[in-house]
Amino acid sequence: MLNKSIAELSHSLQAKKISSHELTQFFLERIKKLDPQLNSFITVTEQQALDAAKKADAQLAQGKAGPLTGIPIAQKDIFCTLGVKTSCGSKMLDNFISPYDATVIKRFNEAGMVMLGKTNMDEFAMGSSNENSYYGSVKNPWNVEYVPGGSSGGSAAAVAASLAPVATGTDTGGSIRQPAALCGISGIKPTYGRISRYGMIAFASSLDQGGLFAKSAEDLAWVLNTMAGFDENDSTSANIAVPDYTNTLNDSLKGLRIGLPKEFFSDALDKDIGNAIQTAIKVYEKLGATFHEINLPNTSLSIPAYYVIAPAECSSNLARFDGVRYGHRCEDPKDLEDLYKRSRSEGFGKEVTRRIMIGTYALSAGYYDAYYIKAQKIRRLVADDFRKAFKSVDVILGPTTPSPAFKLGEKTSDPISMYLSDIYTIAVNLAGLPGMSIPAGFTKGLPIGMQLIGNAFAEARLLNVAHAYQKETDWHTKTPEGF
Ligand code: GLN
Repeated sequence: MLNKSIAELSHSLQAKKISSHELTQFFLERIKKLDPQLNSFITVTEQQALDAAKKADAQLAQGKAGPLTGIPIAQKDIFCTLGVKTSCGSKMLDNFISPYDATVIKRFNEAGMVMLGKTNMDEFAMGSSNENSYYGSVKNPWNVEYVPGGSSGGSAAAVAASLAPVATGTDTGGSIRQPAALCGISGIKPTYGRISRYGMIAFASSLDQGGLFAKSAEDLAWVLNTMAGFDENDSTSANIAVPDYTNTLNDSLKGLRIGLPKEFFSDALDKDIGNAIQTAIKVYEKLGATFHEINLPNTSLSIPAYYVIAPAECSSNLARFDGVRYGHRCEDPKDLEDLYKRSRSEGFGKEVTRRIMIGTYALSAGYYDAYYIKAQKIRRLVADDFRKAFKSVDVILGPTTPSPAFKLGEKTSDPISMYLSDIYTIAVNLAGLPGMSIPAGFTKGLPIGMQLIGNAFAEARLLNVAHAYQKETDWHTKTPEGF
């Protein structure tokens, strides 16, 4: 059961070779036994999972099952789940039991998937190492002294350690692709608007996008089929038909034009990662793809622009946590101002507070034009770089991160160097494009991730390109020792 693909699990369930109850129990037991080393779950919904599995088994018995019926999944604790604690990694929401399901959770439930629990994450999805969680840091299963990446580090570590076959994540500046790279698994951040954000706790609304982690591109395709699609509850959701992502997985790559951004291969890139990408290029050439150097000249501006736009949006989004309606409330407030002040300073951690302060400053009268408007102009330039590039290439390939996983504590006192670990991922969010990370090798025992970037709504193409690579290589089949 450990290294079976979702397709194989689905076939075993349909053929009644295994029940969803057994499968669910199998993963719950692994979580119990192994997660104390990783801290990848905030909440394990054991009873609810077993009940859902029984329901799935009944549907399978009646022949009413869909392709994902009975398959377990872990949900990032940023997605609202009816009747289940939804903390977003924050003390602010430590007592929050969601009164409704996010649209994607509803879709997974309707498809008969079984939620195993809610995964650990950086507080309000702000971070690149999962060290900003109120529930403690998550450890990388390849070496528990290293970070798993963030902010969806719990989901990435859980899938890498085979505590769940698939897990959700969200990616505002790299939070799916970066932890996927650092944990040696496959991750997809679809186009902005492809996945409903309804019930997904907002960090920076114009950048946030839900997506998935799994062991392979094929697994991602299976689950994305259910996750993607229009939602009238989300005004930025795209009303564009969703193809069956499994149909085009095996399309030929003959004639595929792949762009290599010059800016992604500077001296800042770890040598072993650079070499792994060069090796991957040869694999693609063998498959009939051609490579073309492209320019994304505004790449270096994407981090500064992001760190104005994302904090600005977060300062507005997080204003709703005021200690009044839900979430943390301070003891014995003197008056309303005291209630706001103490509830918020007690409820939010250091990084979230830093972002709210930066964002409030950037949006304040007198500074708005100098910072926020300027950052928005840069955002347009970054998006235009991609637009130009996609006139001559079909997909873009490069590293996901400049270095492999770093040690826990190594960057916590230096926010700028932490922010720079998203240098290759953030521009994709500014442009709203889909991106993936897939395993492409190892350096000193730690995984290397390769990034694929597509044009808007070209998820099927990305999955096809990733799958073609995974048919030729076995990096994605490697698992960390002890898990
Ligand atoms: N690491 C980036 C940040 O801290 C991106 C986080 C994310 O994608 N949610 O904002």
